[in-house]
Amino acid sequence: MRWLGGDQEGNIEDRRGLGPVGVGGLGAGGVVLALIGYFVFGISPSTTMDAVNGVQAQQGYDQQDGFRGQPKDQAGQFVDVISTNVDEVWRGLFRQNGQTYTQPAAIVLYDQSTGTGCGLGQGAMGPFYCPADQKVYIDLNFYETLKTRLGAPGDFAQAYVIAHEVGHAAQHRSGDPQMALRQLIVPVASLGSSLAPWLIIAGVIFKVMGLAVAGLVFFAAAVVFTFVTLPVEFGASRRALAYVEPLGLNGERADGARSVLRAAGWTYVAAALTALLTFLYYLWLVFGSRR
Ligand SMILES: [Zn+2]
Repeated sequence: MRWLGGDQEGNIEDRRGLGPVGVGGLGAGGVVLALIGYFVFGISPSTTMDAVNGVQAQQGYDQQDGFRGQPKDQAGQFVDVISTNVDEVWRGLFRQNGQTYTQPAAIVLYDQSTGTGCGLGQGAMGPFYCPADQKVYIDLNFYETLKTRLGAPGDFAQAYVIAHEVGHAAQHRSGDPQMALRQLIVPVASLGSSLAPWLIIAGVIFKVMGLAVAGLVFFAAAVVFTFVTLPVEFGASRRALAYVEPLGLNGERADGARSVLRAAGWTYVAAALTALLTFLYYLWLVFGSRR
């Protein structure tokens, strides 16, 4: 794949070398809450921490300012060239369909962890798009994971990953209806997944049916969210694969990119099924165990 010397529009924000940001962690209030939860309600402290961290994530982290513009190193240039090309190709495709293409606000390159509009971004999460600040976040170490764990080496798989995340930005910023629905559910769903177990368990223990049912409704929103996410993910994957294929993708390389696509797709299917099974368990806990 020939990419060196390709156009670079420099829609890159380079935060590499800035180091991880200080994480707030669980404050004193959170610790007290976790202790009460554990000793009074028997709720695992990690559940409380998730709930508290979920609320903190809503507030966002301090954003570091990276270097805006064209990276000088090869790994950074690759991301710049590919995202520039993705923008060019999709701008044309969207225009053909009478739609307006909008690129991400920036593609942020970082090491280990960085503050984002969606909470703390960490390399272990893999590349992601944050709707709150409309930026794509990539820790380039993820490419090592692609190679060693997912068995998809090479420029094509990397280009595919960039195109997939830029695809989410396009879905969001260009007004894709499925993405819009997903974003509509986010606040209730994130509140639901952190708060619902508390409401349900407290409702069951103290036999307050209203509390348990409220928990079930909140958790149902979280389940719906995982299913609404599926068409959004598969849409971005289809579009990314359609982008990389004309680059000369064939044989082994095509298999590599497709295995990434499948692995990523199945992760979301598994998450949706897990959420559904958990919901059924909570239903049984609230209604089935009363006899
Ligand atoms: Zn995705």
